[in-house]
Amino acid sequence: MAGINKPECECIFCGRSIADAGFDPCQLVLITNWLEPEEHQLKQQFLCHAECFRRLIRPGLPKVPLAFETLEPRWWEKE
Ligand SMILES: [Zn+2]
Repeated sequence: MAGINKPECECIFCGRSIADAGFDPCQLVLITNWLEPEEHQLKQQFLCHAECFRRLIRPGLPKVPLAFETLEPRWWEKE
C-alpha cells in the first residue's frame, strides 16, 4: 500500500522536524485579542515538540499541570 504523505512537521521553537512519537507533534493555537468577540480575533496554528514547549514556558506556569504531564505518552495504545 502506498504510504500516506504526512505534512512536514517543523517545530516553531527549535526548527527541527517532529516525529510522530510520544506526545508529538503538538499543535499550538494562537488566538489574538482573546477577550474580544470572536469576529475580531485572528487564529493561527503552529507545530512544536512537547519538550520544547515544556522547556520554554516560565517555570511554575501555567498554574495547572500541562495536559501531557498527567498522562503517559500514547496512553490510548495501552488501554
Ligand atoms: Zn522543538
